[in-house]
Amino acid sequence: MHLLNADLHCHSNVSDGTLSPEALAERAHAGGVDLWSLTDHDEIAGQRRARDAALALGMDYLTGTEISVSFAGQTVHIVGLGFNADDERLAAGLEHTRAGRRARALQMAEGLAKVGIAGAFEGALQYVGNPELISRTHFARFLVETGVCPDTHSVFRRFLTEGHPGYVPTRWARLGDAVRWITEAGGIAVIAHPGRYRFTATEEYALFTEFIAHGGRGVEVMTGSHSAAEHIRYADTAVEFDLLASRGSDFHAPGESRTELGTLPDLPGRLTPVWEALASRIQTKAQ
Ligand code: AMP
Ligand code: MN
Ligand code: MN
Ligand code: MN
Repeated sequence: MHLLNADLHCHSNVSDGTLSPEALAERAHAGGVDLWSLTDHDEIAGQRRARDAALALGMDYLTGTEISVSFAGQTVHIVGLGFNADDERLAAGLEHTRAGRRARALQMAEGLAKVGIAGAFEGALQYVGNPELISRTHFARFLVETGVCPDTHSVFRRFLTEGHPGYVPTRWARLGDAVRWITEAGGIAVIAHPGRYRFTATEEYALFTEFIAHGGRGVEVMTGSHSAAEHIRYADTAVEFDLLASRGSDFHAPGESRTELGTLPDLPGRLTPVWEALASRIQTKAQ
């Protein structure tokens, strides 16, 4: 077992979480986290605040982000860890990835209006902390708050996924581009929550082999969205593809996220943790 309590995946109100980077740092610290990373979707504007808060609390910190990618007709998330947050190509790539979100949100609201849900764009905006990052999660919170659905999960099931009225197909970043932005900024690219995708075995194999061919080096084995069986399955995948293993709760909001910061099972001893390969990129108070 690797006993370091690392939590390398979560979201602040700079993307679709509800807590500030500082409040999230406090929650991670209270959860016993030793090494933390804030991984907002397609955005690194919260990195300095997260790092400063982490170090003030005595936690070690790795820079982070979670990039939206389109692959084989689905959205795949690639987590980047330990990159230089001042890298200009990474910043430009993330900005490009974020660019269509506002127009997409307006189209989502149109789709919802057609089934009788008025004012969803303005409604979702009330929950947005970063105007460049309107997410489906913000629509979900609005539809829960207005009583249309009992919880965010049912909003996604009934309205925000393929085949439903608030769904708008989106072309995100290309896999190779996302991996290169991260890698060329000195970081390591990690396939986020592989158990969440609905790929065939052939498509999943293509995802892993292409990811590695582009320079990707890690996979999330322990994540809040994996079952116990998936923890084992993706530990095997990490070994099979010789990938570094990551661990992250994917915490978004109190009362909404099932997995608290710092509470996932430890990585099995047969895996190499991604943080071992990032030792020189870890920021500590002493620096
Ligand atoms: P977006 O990047 O705007 O497409 O939104 C994606 C986000 O929606 C994910 O990062 C999750 O936070 C959230 N999400 C996706 N599917 C679900 C679901 N079934 N239940 C709750 N939240 C979800
Ligand atoms: Mn999210
Ligand atoms: Mn994700
Ligand atoms: Mn996430």
